[in-house]
Amino acid sequence: MMRKWIKYVTFIILLLMLVGCGQPEAKYIFFFIGDGMGTVQINAAERYLAAIENKPGIIPLAINLAPATGSITTNSKNRYITDSGAAVTALSTGFKTTLTTLSMDAEHRYPLKTIAETAKERGMKVGIISTVDIDHATPAGFYAHQPKRSSYYEIAKQLANSNFDFFGGGDIRQNTDPKGIDKENIIDLAKRNGFIYINNATAFNYLQPGAGRVFFVHPDVNLDYAMPYSIDMDKNAITLSQIVDKAIKMLDGPDGFFIMVEGGKIDWACHINDAATSIRETLAFDDAVKVALEFYSKHEKNTLILITADHETGGMSMGTTHGDNNVDLSKLQWQTGSFSELTREYRDICDVLIEEYGVDSVKNSVQWAFDFVREQTGLGDENKGLDLNEYEMNDLISAYEKTFIGKDRENPLEYILYGSYDPFMISVSRTLSRKVGIGWTTFSHTGVPVPVRAFGVGAEQFNGYYDNTEIPKRIQNVMAK
Ligand SMILES: [Zn+2]
Repeated sequence: MMRKWIKYVTFIILLLMLVGCGQPEAKYIFFFIGDGMGTVQINAAERYLAAIENKPGIIPLAINLAPATGSITTNSKNRYITDSGAAVTALSTGFKTTLTTLSMDAEHRYPLKTIAETAKERGMKVGIISTVDIDHATPAGFYAHQPKRSSYYEIAKQLANSNFDFFGGGDIRQNTDPKGIDKENIIDLAKRNGFIYINNATAFNYLQPGAGRVFFVHPDVNLDYAMPYSIDMDKNAITLSQIVDKAIKMLDGPDGFFIMVEGGKIDWACHINDAATSIRETLAFDDAVKVALEFYSKHEKNTLILITADHETGGMSMGTTHGDNNVDLSKLQWQTGSFSELTREYRDICDVLIEEYGVDSVKNSVQWAFDFVREQTGLGDENKGLDLNEYEMNDLISAYEKTFIGKDRENPLEYILYGSYDPFMISVSRTLSRKVGIGWTTFSHTGVPVPVRAFGVGAEQFNGYYDNTEIPKRIQNVMAK
């Protein structure tokens, strides 16, 4: 009798506790998006870390220590293989839309509310961070609503008119109205709306909580308006992690925050089939996740960290016929810069040589190009285990010659070989990948599912296999009211 009574009371107490506590809520939400970051991009970074230390297997990234793991399908409304516009719309609003659309319905009739806008309505502070231009599809899909992701001026205007609290990373592409209707430029508009505009390291470092709403543009943005690739960065340059750290300091407070962080250049590196650069970008992205994890360790009860991707890029794989079951990613450590930077250097040298010796002479002397590549990537260097066989040599020589003859855009084989890139340097990039055991199927996106990882409050909601439109709905379920 007594035992029964104890059981009954315990049951009532547990019931009261459950009702009293309610659902745990996330007051601090981190939403990390690795653009183009499939399972292999993450795994390649893990294998690389182990390989350069001569260890078997992997050294896991922080991302992969998450207690909750899932994967999502990514298709857009009108094509199985998505683009960043339709993908971010799914991730930020929970709706499928058409390619290149930004947070609007498929017919472009009305805007769709984003999870960042919901966070703002609930009184949270909102930060949007990206390594690429801040008007690029992924970051823009959280604050802008446009039929076309390429409407850069309109997107930037929505940034400047938004009520968000922190923008950081890359630049905007279009500061002035191309139609000449608006007289005020975007930066002035943002300032008039109460943003402090910062584009140098000193001001960034001095930035203190309470300073107000921030619009930070990385001081080293290059011609494509993005932050430099990690592999190309100066030692003292501001990193993605530092921007995340600054955003946390600026936005932390009783209202809580929602911070979206995009590693945008994983995608860019994979478009150009550049394995070493993809790995470095993924590692830099993981470092940024570690900053969020540090915050989480002090606010475990009300923080959610979610990590996912918008789609995979490049069809990256491990294992190639030329690698013959050997994957040795340690050989990627010799690469001194991203292939987009190395291509720029290569073309500069080529131009100088042509000026000096004439086109015909340069066309017939490929040796300088091989020397350049050996110096900058190790490819062709026997001592680094990257010597070229006859087939590979011939392949590269014909790609080199293509640079001078010009590519035949109508020829499908040439597109398969070189895409829209410099024939020689893209061939170098792909040869290097193949030799270390990394394969690529495309210069574009793929339709494979992408990983989801979650830490903290409500993390278990993100287990399983589901569609990308579920992500913002599940975030909203745990977001503090
Ligand atoms: Zn993307």
